Amino acid sequence: MKTLARVETLSNYIGGQWIASPSAETLPVTNPATGETVARVPLSGPEVVDRAVRAAHEAFLSWRAVPPLERARFMFPLRDLLVKHRDDIARLVTIEHGKTLVDAQGSVQRAIENVEVAAGIPSLMMGYGLENGAGAGIDEEAVRRPLGVFACVAPFNFPLMVPFWFLPYAVATGNTFIVKPSEQVPLSQRLVFELIDQIGLPAGVVNLINGARETVDALLDHELVRGLSFVGSTRVARSIYARGAAAGKRVQAAGGAKNAIVVMPDAALDKTIPNVINSAFGSSGQRCLAGSIIMPVSEAHEPVRQALLAAIEDIRVGNGLDPETSMGPVISAAARDRILGAIAQARDDGAELLSGGGAAHVPGHEHGYFVEPTLFDRVRPGTALATEEIFGPVLSMMPVDTLGEAIDRIESSPYGNAASIFTEHGGWAREFQMGVSVGNVGINVGVAAPMAYFPFGGARESFLGTQHGQGRDAIDFFTDRRVVIRRWFRTGREDALGHW
Ligand code: NAD
Repeated sequence: MKTLARVETLSNYIGGQWIASPSAETLPVTNPATGETVARVPLSGPEVVDRAVRAAHEAFLSWRAVPPLERARFMFPLRDLLVKHRDDIARLVTIEHGKTLVDAQGSVQRAIENVEVAAGIPSLMMGYGLENGAGAGIDEEAVRRPLGVFACVAPFNFPLMVPFWFLPYAVATGNTFIVKPSEQVPLSQRLVFELIDQIGLPAGVVNLINGARETVDALLDHELVRGLSFVGSTRVARSIYARGAAAGKRVQAAGGAKNAIVVMPDAALDKTIPNVINSAFGSSGQRCLAGSIIMPVSEAHEPVRQALLAAIEDIRVGNGLDPETSMGPVISAAARDRILGAIAQARDDGAELLSGGGAAHVPGHEHGYFVEPTLFDRVRPGTALATEEIFGPVLSMMPVDTLGEAIDRIESSPYGNAASIFTEHGGWAREFQMGVSVGNVGINVGVAAPMAYFPFGGARESFLGTQHGQGRDAIDFFTDRRVVIRRWFRTGREDALGHW
């Protein structure tokens, strides 16, 4: 396996080969803990995309006919290699993204679990049939079929995991696949494709192309691309959904979030607070399921405020590779400056800053992009801090008088990715579950992240499309249901074939 040479320009993996991008345009890939450039990523244009799509299409013509059980067998060596190299992959995720090694290892585990689930493809992909279903002597069945070339466009915040919500299912169902990682974090996908290269898949079944907007546009415009799975910000999700749909493609597009956590007065605070802290500050708040607004109900306000203030003191900001670190940097200098701008705006809008609020200084990492874990109280409804996605380590308290008020506030957000409640009262939990229209509900769970055999996706402005990622939804997204209606006639000429 190649070791990461410093400031190497990454190649694309097309048709089973590593191919240098012809594009002269590259962007730096930065370790956000140190500010160092660790590689350069090429901005692949339409010719590279065309080459990858054609390789994938060529592969599809025979891959679709490989029996599902044989396709499933490729999942076993892939799983074993991911397990064997789990720590190397996690380390790269930490280097390119900044999250702690423990968080990075967790994300690799999620990827592995999706491969494990996709190994069950013969059962998952099975159709259904009914003898005499279309009338006497006429049988009817529905079978699932792969469609062709699919692509995935991934965000920066889960560099390794997000493509695995899609890739194992697309490939196991008989489609062929192209991954376009975020240009900010292309390193762990490169390593994973070096592993995929070892499992003997036919050339072109999976491909990796690096790039940014122009690459995505070329994928969306290519006539041989049948569908696209996007995960990223809502602004881009909207434009990709519209462009892909206009071209007749299947599109699933997951967008941004503004997730709330409601704490009832009866909540077990010793368990609640660590969950809230992990939800808000894990991955430096750069998770689509991160809790970003906490709503203590009535008399829960003061104890929650005190407990959060104490807990935030224990967060150790640093390089994610350091085992003592509990929170790493944010992804870039631009992200840091944007988050600090949002904090300044929140203060201007009258929110009460309780803790943090500035850039964090980590000794030996003067060029890293660190932000202090930040806590606000009395955030005013309707202000930017209350309504907009910050995607950084900023937790905002918005006290409310009743559970109903909390639910109304959650419902007034255009986003609908996740919401959690902490309570020991089943009735309140149920009222919450029924009242919030979000994709992922946590009950005494701070990050309601679906396992690989459950759908991963949100609602409203957080998700455009019908089928989500992972599990059965992924099988639906990557297959067509074809109906076959069959009957046989007695012609009277059977005698010529012999007497049976
Ligand atoms: P982003 O939208 O900036 O970029 C995502 C991907 O789209 C990247 O691969 C990028 O190269 C590409 N892209 C960027 N601009 C484009 C354009 N104009 N046209 C075509 N492609 C374009 O998102 P990000 O900053 O990488 O990721 C953070 C966002 O992702 C947050 O909003 C977060 O909530 C969201 N997210 C959502 C989920 C979910 O499940 N809903 C999961 C993870 C992240």
